[in-house]
Amino acid sequence: MKTADSNAALFTRTLKLKVKCEAYAWLNAAAIEVNQVWNWANATSMDAADRNRRAHAKCLSGFDLDKLSAGASACFERINSACIQRINSEYATKRRLAKRLKLRWRVSRGARRSLGWVPFKAANLKRKGVCLRFAGKCVRVFERQLLENAKWRDGCFAQDAVGDWWLCLPIRSEAAHSIATREAVGIDLGVKAIATTSEGESLHAGRWTHFYANKLASAQRRGHKRQAKRIHRKAARCRADALHKFSRTIVNRYQNIVVGDVSSAKLAKTRMARSVLDSGWGMLKTQLLYKSQQAGRSVQIVSERNTSVTCSSCGSLSGPRGVNGLIVRSWICSECGDSHDRDVNAARNILIGSRCRTSVSGNEPSPVAAASGRISEPRKTYWLKTVAA
Ligand SMILES: [Zn+2]
Repeated sequence: MKTADSNAALFTRTLKLKVKCEAYAWLNAAAIEVNQVWNWANATSMDAADRNRRAHAKCLSGFDLDKLSAGASACFERINSACIQRINSEYATKRRLAKRLKLRWRVSRGARRSLGWVPFKAANLKRKGVCLRFAGKCVRVFERQLLENAKWRDGCFAQDAVGDWWLCLPIRSEAAHSIATREAVGIDLGVKAIATTSEGESLHAGRWTHFYANKLASAQRRGHKRQAKRIHRKAARCRADALHKFSRTIVNRYQNIVVGDVSSAKLAKTRMARSVLDSGWGMLKTQLLYKSQQAGRSVQIVSERNTSVTCSSCGSLSGPRGVNGLIVRSWICSECGDSHDRDVNAARNILIGSRCRTSVSGNEPSPVAAASGRISEPRKTYWLKTVAA
């Protein structure tokens, strides 16, 4: 973790590099062996828990499973003992977190096949010329220049729905704290524009949303399953790319970032579900949180109640209300006569509100204390009272 005097933060980021396809057959076969070990761990733990229900109860830890599976690597052609230990510890951790007696079985064949997964220990993946050597197999990856001088930790090979394999490598790296040019920004998350800032910038769902939805529909109508999976993957990548670019600009530019606490889980149950899930608010929030942590910014997540009906200039509740109010994109305040864009106004209110209230969550320890130093008098206190009521 960062110290007070150092100017750089250490953090872990996971590189995801595509594996060249000549290794797919080997990885597919290795994944079946991994599944066998996983299912053995599942059966053994279940057995132990069952026996212990009558006698003294004890859940098997990863270490216990290691002892029980000692020498098992001789039965497998591809995976080694270090890999088996990683599966054991991963299994034990997952089961403990899930608080279950057993986890789901990993299926190797058929339509309900589990996506391939081959974990390894950091020391078992070695550089060898242009290749990476793992358990006696040379694997080549795309963009291997990213691995130069990198020190990695325990990682895995993982398969996606299309069937391609990816090398996932957590890498310790340093991020220098930069200086933001502007002080604070409020961000309103919405459906029409995914995000709008208090300075009027917005991130719109790109044309790709519609484009890929049509392509996907036609692929599914024709029964092209593999093609449909590819389109899904492509659309997800476009979405992630747009969100990454947006969050990067925001983090580079502003010191304090305030986001409304829209819950996508709740809205996903309504008829707006498709556009809500498509907009990726959760992903945007996560990106803002970790990117600002690396750059030394603060993020607050505040309640966004009443933010769209309040006038950000005078504080009266004169904005459009209710379901019909959602159609209104811009309005004029009846009290002070200012004209507002709906989303920009909401973002401004989120920013104003954050200066006087505690955040719901975020990476800033005490936003009130931080804000009170600069802003002596909370702006529009009466508005805040109506919000709190
Ligand atoms: Zn007004």
